This record gives sequence, structure tokens and C-alpha cells, in this order.
Amino acid sequence: MIQSINPANNQLIKTYQEISDNDLSLILKNMQSAFENWKTCSFNYRASLMKAAAEILRSKREEYSQLMTLEMGKPIVQSRAEIDKCAWVCEYYAENAEKFLLDELIQTDASKSFVTFQPLGVVLAVMPWNFPFWQVFRFAAPTLMAGNVGLLKHASNVSGCSLAIEEIFSEAGFPDFVFKSTILSSSRVKDLIANPIIQAVSLTGSVPAGKSVASTAGFNIKKTVLELGGSDPYVVLEDADLSEAVHTCVASRLINGGQSCIAAKRFIVVEKVYDKFVEMYVDYMKQKKMGDPIDESNDIGPQASVKLRDELHDQVLRSSNSGAKLLLGGFIPDLPGAYYPPTVLADVTPGMPAFDEELFGPVAAIVKAVDETDAINLANKSVFGLGAAVFTKDTAKGEKIAREKLNAGTCFVNQFVRSDPRLPFGGIKESGYGRELSIFGIREFVNIKTVVVK
Ligand code: NAP
Repeated sequence: MIQSINPANNQLIKTYQEISDNDLSLILKNMQSAFENWKTCSFNYRASLMKAAAEILRSKREEYSQLMTLEMGKPIVQSRAEIDKCAWVCEYYAENAEKFLLDELIQTDASKSFVTFQPLGVVLAVMPWNFPFWQVFRFAAPTLMAGNVGLLKHASNVSGCSLAIEEIFSEAGFPDFVFKSTILSSSRVKDLIANPIIQAVSLTGSVPAGKSVASTAGFNIKKTVLELGGSDPYVVLEDADLSEAVHTCVASRLINGGQSCIAAKRFIVVEKVYDKFVEMYVDYMKQKKMGDPIDESNDIGPQASVKLRDELHDQVLRSSNSGAKLLLGGFIPDLPGAYYPPTVLADVTPGMPAFDEELFGPVAAIVKAVDETDAINLANKSVFGLGAAVFTKDTAKGEKIAREKLNAGTCFVNQFVRSDPRLPFGGIKESGYGRELSIFGIREFVNIKTVVVK
């Protein structure tokens, strides 16, 4: 049995029955047959369905937003923005997929040589709860537009969202079995990946899940895209606009209750402005309101579950026990649900959990650097490499640091890292490999086929 529990009050929302092996096997066979037809459909036809999905998302925005907030505690305003973004990614690929996958002619000594992009078949998506709609749509829009069919195994705590997404594709007119959601526990993913019908896997989740999925897929020689954890460093230089930097850094740390892979997690501030930054940061964090995620005036809701909240608290305690200064928050409130307050740890150094591990919640780790070089070294001293940002009034210097010095998949100057359908998204090191979104995302799950005619 798989349960959805409202993290705002710990009450059971619904219990779901796991799919049986027989039913799963039947779905896979049906998806394989659906693929044979779907891959022959025109881009125009696929685009018309994808645009219909976007319309459904917009017309039922409130319903889906409420569902996400209920299942995982996201502030309602952010749930609405997430649904809008899903509609955007559907429209973006509806409009651009054909162009992104046009044949490419290449001059050789043959009479004709070209590259053509062809779908692979049934692609499995293993997805996390933190952006329950967005993670799925950013996978599904390019994958289906390329002519693949998609099977979703969503995180167990957002089964309601998983089924709602399947319904959207069905209501939009996608043929049966082009997109399916399935309710099953993660222990069954290995067998699923090994099934010969599955051609490739996209996983967004934690590093341990990434290692497990990648090793099974590797053993079975199947392509994977891995979007894993992060501990994004935001480097604040001496000449930064401190007020703007603080506001951006707080916003990035608290978005989605701090449970975002690309949330800023380590703030690396040069010595000359360190004390001022810490003071302003704590002041601004104090103004942020925690409470019922359905109430629009709250900035953060609960964490996604009590278990995750308690693990986060343990990381905070271990960090302060090893010398970090706890300046704000850092306690479990006497409230029902999985609440954890905005928390600030200063004087964080390598070797502390707040520096070395991913803290998936509203906890800021502020790190002092001697100078710019030291700050960049500290930023790169991480097993992760998802996003990074630098704050400086000298934008040319910021651009050089972003381009040449920060080791991450996405680097922003003077603003917080966010995903955008037009830009490739993904990480290096233990943050994973492969890219989603843009032209790069749609080319992950295709056979890049070379054709040469004598
Ligand atoms: P998670 O525990 O790894 O779960 C993610 C998904 O993987 C869920 O569907 C989960 O199923 C499944 N899963 C867990 N362990 C597995 C295993 N050993 N084999 C196969 N599947 C497994 O992660 P989460 O707590 O949901 O999400 C938070 C993590 O995702 C953070 O580390 C965050 O940084 C990362 N994330 C990364 C990105 C990105 O784009 N890079 C975006 C969002 C989140 P069950 O729920 O059934 O266990």
C-alpha cells in the first residue's frame, strides 16, 4: 500500500494500491504497441495534442495547484506558478520539436549523408515529489514530441499528482498508452529497468537513487539522464549590491520550502562584506512567514514529510555541533505536520554537513572566504555541480567567473538559478549527467542515426 499524507497536518489523504506484476507487464506490452503507431504520427498532430494538454493545465490550474500543495506542502502561490510553467513547456515543445529534430545534411564524399533523429520507444521516468508536475512535464513534453512513449513512476507521496497527470494527457486526446502513470514502490524499479521493453530511463532524485538506477541501466546497457541533488554555491563578492544579493539569496534558499535541487544552499561571502551580509541575511530571513501552505500570505509551508524534516534537523544539529553558528531557527516547532522554520547557520566550513551534504529545506549555510579566489575554490569544493551564482557589480567579471571558474551545469550572474524551457538544464559530478529542456533535452532520448547513400 502506498500512502499520500498531508504534511501540513500529518493526516492521511489517500491510500493507493500498488500495481501487480501482471498488470505492469500488460501496460508495457500495450505501450510498446502504442509506440509503433505514435512514432509515425506527424509533428503537427503531436503538437496539437501537446497544446491541448497546455490548455487543460491552464483551465484546471487551481485544482492541480491545490492537489500539489495538499500532497507535498508547497506554498499555493508557487503551485500555481508551477502549473503555468508546465503549460509553457508543453507549448514550447509543441512549437519547436520539429525544428529541433530536423534532419541534418552533412557533406562527405558520398552522394548524400545525413543525420536523422528517431524515437527510442518506451522511456521510463522516475520522478521526485518536490515539483510534482514540473518534473514530469519537463520530461514528458520533449520525450512524447520526439515520438517516444512515457511511463511514469512518481514519488510515492504524490500518487494523486501522478494520476492527475495521466488524466491530463488522456483528456488532451493522446492515444491510449502513450503516457501512463504507474503506482509502484522504488524497490521494483530495478526489475522494471531490466524489462526489455524499457529503452531508456530519466531519473530526477537523490544521489543514492541515481546510483541505483544508473547501475541497473548500465548493466542492461540502457541510456539514462540523471538529474540529482545539488548544493548550489552563491558567491558574494566585495563589490556586490548587498541588498539585492541578500534578497535574491533568501528568495532562492526558501523557494519550495527550501526543497529545490537548484535552491541556493551555500552562501560564500568574501571577508570584507561578510559581517554585513550575515546581519542583513538574518534580518530578512526573520521576516519570512512559515505556516499553512494554502494561506497565500505564508512564504513557506511544511517540509514534505516528518521523516525528511527530522533528517534536515539532524544535519543542522551536526553542523552546529561541529562549530557552525546557529543564528536563526534550528528547532522543531510545536505544530502538527512537518514544519521547520527558516534557519541560518554562519561560519560554516568544509567538513560540516551544511557544507558537504545537500540540505533539502529552509536552512542557509553562510561561509566566509578570504577573497575572490578563496570564494571560488570553496564554491567548487563540493561533490555536486548543479547550479551556481555570483554577485558583483562588475558584470564582465561576473560573466568570466560564471564561464570559466564555477564548476556547475548552470551559472547565473546577479540572479538566482532557475530552469527555463529554452535553456539546457542539468549538472556535472554527483548532480548527474545529460540535459533536460531546450534542443539538448529533446535529443537525449532519440537515436541519432547516420544515413549515407553512395
Ligand atoms: P528520491 O528519494 O531519490 O526519490 C526520487 C524518485 O526515485 C522517487 O520516485 C523514488 O520513489 C525513486 N527512488 C528512490 N530510491 C530509488 C532507488 N533506489 N531506485 C529506484 N528509484 C528510487 O528523491 P526525493 O526525495 O523524491 O527528491 C529529492 C532529491 O531530488 C534531492 O536530492 C533533489 O536535489 C533531487 N532533485 C534534483 C533535481 C534536478 O533537476 N537535478 C530536481 C528535483 C529534485 P519512492 O518515492 O517510491 O521512494
